[in-house]
Amino acid sequence: FRETNMSKIIIVSNRLPIELSKKEDSDWNFIPTSGGLATGMKSVHDHGESLWIGWLGVSSEEITKPEFDDLTKQLVSQKYKPISLSQNEIDEFYLGFSNQAIWPLFHYFKQFFKFENEQWENYVSVNQKYADSILEEIDDGDKIWIHDYQLLLVPKMIKSVKKNITIGFFLHIPFPSFEIFRLFPKREELLNGILGADLIGFHTYDYQRHFLSSVRRILHLNVSFNLIEKFDRKIIVNTFPMGIDYEKFERTSIEHKKIDKKKYSQLRTQLEKHKLNNQGKIILSIDRLDYTKGIVNRIKSFELFLDKYPQYQNKLRLLMVCVPSRSKVSDYMRLKREIDETIGRVNGKFANVNWTPIWYYYRSFGFDDLIDLYTQSDIAMVTPLRDGMNLVAKEYLATRVENDGVLILSELAGASKELHQALIVNPFDINELADSIYEAIKLSKQDQIEKNIELRERVKRYNVNYWSTNFIQKLNEISKITAKNKSIKLDQKTTSFLNSSYLKSKKRLIILDYDGTLVGFNNDRNKALPSIELKNLLRSLSKNEKNKVAIISGRPQGFMEKNLSDLGICLIAEHGFFQKNPGCEWEKKQIQNNTWVDHIFPLLQQFADNTPGTFVEKKVNALVWHYRRTDPELGIVKAEELKTILSSMISPEFNVVHGNKIVEVVSSSTNKGIASLDLFKEDDFDFTFVAGDDTTDENMFIHLPKDVFSVKVGNKLTSAKYFVNEHTDILKILKLIEDK
Ligand code: UDP
Repeated sequence: FRETNMSKIIIVSNRLPIELSKKEDSDWNFIPTSGGLATGMKSVHDHGESLWIGWLGVSSEEITKPEFDDLTKQLVSQKYKPISLSQNEIDEFYLGFSNQAIWPLFHYFKQFFKFENEQWENYVSVNQKYADSILEEIDDGDKIWIHDYQLLLVPKMIKSVKKNITIGFFLHIPFPSFEIFRLFPKREELLNGILGADLIGFHTYDYQRHFLSSVRRILHLNVSFNLIEKFDRKIIVNTFPMGIDYEKFERTSIEHKKIDKKKYSQLRTQLEKHKLNNQGKIILSIDRLDYTKGIVNRIKSFELFLDKYPQYQNKLRLLMVCVPSRSKVSDYMRLKREIDETIGRVNGKFANVNWTPIWYYYRSFGFDDLIDLYTQSDIAMVTPLRDGMNLVAKEYLATRVENDGVLILSELAGASKELHQALIVNPFDINELADSIYEAIKLSKQDQIEKNIELRERVKRYNVNYWSTNFIQKLNEISKITAKNKSIKLDQKTTSFLNSSYLKSKKRLIILDYDGTLVGFNNDRNKALPSIELKNLLRSLSKNEKNKVAIISGRPQGFMEKNLSDLGICLIAEHGFFQKNPGCEWEKKQIQNNTWVDHIFPLLQQFADNTPGTFVEKKVNALVWHYRRTDPELGIVKAEELKTILSSMISPEFNVVHGNKIVEVVSSSTNKGIASLDLFKEDDFDFTFVAGDDTTDENMFIHLPKDVFSVKVGNKLTSAKYFVNEHTDILKILKLIEDK
């Protein structure tokens, strides 16, 4: 598959956008399909270097190995790479786990959710199969765009092998609220799988919001706005509402208008006839036969409408297209029976020799018939109970070239977030649905035109090409940013440079932050204590007479006195307000009027009272509101609120620092930067090592000269020269130099 050295885009979806066919005794043939995704990716796939990886659509039992190999060769020339799946894999991974566990739960249908361990294992192994197939094709600089719920684990499987490859992931179905998602037995695995991507896209802001909420609550990762921090990686989450090939639908609709009557298709002749005979109207309903689509409610609402407004009997017709889908799954079989029965009952109730209220088609239509259905229908009723986007709604609008027609749209379809001017309904409220039909019939032509002009403008602008271009653009930007990430990972080479500088030097200063740098975080901060190993290490470092070792912490002097005063090192508490040199007493570094502390305290106390799990720590020169133990979402919101109130007080006496799960209000007369610079000026140090993890430590990195060894714990935005991933890496460095 490697033809040139140019970087390429690898598109990955469950299925390749092709349709296979085989006539008796002849070879397999394929034709490209023109579904939503295929059209959207067309500009990406047709132009430039690309490769599309996905399943062929037939099982490995149906196609012999030589046939598969031969087909693969043909597909390569079209930049497709097929994946082979056995019937068992299709049953377990696709029909099973994807469609009976992920699909129902993500659409809020808990009653259809089935979790089976064997299916899960198959899901993992088939995802690995896709990942392996992708990995065979990756060259440096390539970008990967993975699609949808069947492949949630693939991003991580790739990232763990190829760290520098930029990966995008787009979910085409809803992401459910945290309260639903949390029910999923493998929730951590699914989230971590997706988080292998660098860019994650959803149709609507609600899905994005739900996803971020689950990331915060389940994985406890830091999320700020749409950015997730995962160890040394930053992941961007964004909304990209998918559109349609607007131009194609509009153009074909115009062409159909010009067709001579004699050349009408059978379907169109029938549709026109209904209109003439009854001066009637047609309501169109088109979906895959799926419980998410609200088909039964729609039929019931039509029945209610005919009962409530009998004057429309004999005039109005519901034209219902149900496209067969997942028909081997028992829930879908049951639904099919229910739909058949309900339609039968309603038709039985109202029909007469001249009129059948519901025309029902259980089949799919080709593109031209679809255009006729759209253009001949006065009303389109798109009322899913839950739908990631829904393209039918957009396609209907695109064909309405005279700007007439009414779209009734469910508020639970992603499309409703863009198409505000439609008649928006709650699909569970049968009464409201029935009344919306009446409202649609009564809507004046002028009103229809006014609404549709705006709606069609939106669908035209945010078309499918815009969607894919926008996503790829963002992916390209991320790939460039990753390439020039500024702070450098402290690798083996720099560590040995640090080590040799240490050995050569005569006077050394080692400044260390405490929490997050020397010890890990603990939910109970009093339990974040130094280990014996750490204490011995610091003791031994300070024994070397060339070394001056200091810990600068935001902790109060009491804590430092109790846990660190026996090490023979310099201790600086409360960000620089108190200092204790080895063998000396504590000194107050600055004396000033701190009346603001008593003034601000009740405000913070009020936040602690209203936010369960949080508390206020009172220090001499600072107040800290701790929110590590509260609900992470609530914590963030409340922290922002507190910061806003504090900043509105505009006082030169204190600064507000938003640290790791704390908001600290600290006297402005000193900070860790000033304190560390004071230490630095005490002597002619020819080796300085400074390490910290938090926002307050940035002051040290900024105040100290540029040529010192400054190290940040965690690959976050920083002024430090180097970074390491975890606090244990700092201990490893200290251990290394201590041995000398
Ligand atoms: N469609 C089709 N033939 C039909 C009925 C529908 O090709 O007989 C197409 C329709 O044009 C639309 C897609 O199927 O592009 C349905 O997409 P949608 O987002 O509405 O629902 P999904 O099936 O993806 O849940």
